[in-house]
Amino acid sequence: MIRMSEGNESFSADARWDLHCHTQFSDGTHTPTELVRQAKESGLQGVAITDHDTYAGWDEVAQASRRYRFPVIRGSEITAYDRRTSVHMLAYLYDPNNETVIDMFATTRQARLKRTRSMVESMAQDYPISWEAVLAQVGEGDRTTVGRPHIADALVHAGVYGNRSQAFAGICSSDSPYYIPTPSPSTHEVIRCVHAAGGVVVIAHAGAVARNPELLSDEQIETLISEGLDGLEIWHRDNSSEQRERLSQIAVKHGLIMTGGSDWHGKGKPNRLGENAASGIVASEIVNRGCIPLLP
Ligand SMILES: [Zn+2]
Ligand SMILES: [Zn+2]
Repeated sequence: MIRMSEGNESFSADARWDLHCHTQFSDGTHTPTELVRQAKESGLQGVAITDHDTYAGWDEVAQASRRYRFPVIRGSEITAYDRRTSVHMLAYLYDPNNETVIDMFATTRQARLKRTRSMVESMAQDYPISWEAVLAQVGEGDRTTVGRPHIADALVHAGVYGNRSQAFAGICSSDSPYYIPTPSPSTHEVIRCVHAAGGVVVIAHAGAVARNPELLSDEQIETLISEGLDGLEIWHRDNSSEQRERLSQIAVKHGLIMTGGSDWHGKGKPNRLGENAASGIVASEIVNRGCIPLLP
């Protein structure tokens, strides 16, 4: 059933939507305003903002959507785990004021802060670094999640390394004895919390072989489908063609939404805005299921 799409060319089968984009509110290099401007200029019919583990860019993207009269779906890309696999989940059009979703983000944030602090404390036994010195490297204050990049910057500031890359090759690496994995909610919790907030959940790049030594199995994905998973991101540069085939079969079998997106990061990655776009029909399905409206 297509409610919003009737008579709207943004939702036609020919319309092209980029449903996976990052801005400065996570690890992209551009502002949400720049995202909207570039999406419009590149000839897309709509775009989604999906910064990592945050909705902090939603206010700015709403202003830009109105200013450029360009359709925007608000979303986030939430990092989760499922057994030994790290899973990225695109959450669209959920109510950011819902307490369940606020608690989920707050719990993750506190656990990550504690994790970063523990890493710094163990490094401080052997290197000239302190928690205060790490906090001094945080630019956006409360809106930034303190993590390894800030530890690396503090080590550079203290003269231990010449630059951030050297620090990441050194004691900031995931092989380092000081490393503690990033705490994340489970895939099951993400589905429960985002649905409680009226949103739509799509697993991002589930066939990205290079990102994970162990991909989600069919059985793991089917468990998530039984818990209400809405869709799978099929068209993404990191999904191999065999994986696209596998994921498409699962999606068709269970009637899931099949999405696509560029995973644009501005200058941060080679991904071009609009590559692997989804059709307007896919966008309308997300809009129909979500609990907050499409912008503008
Ligand atoms: Zn991702
Ligand atoms: Zn992404």
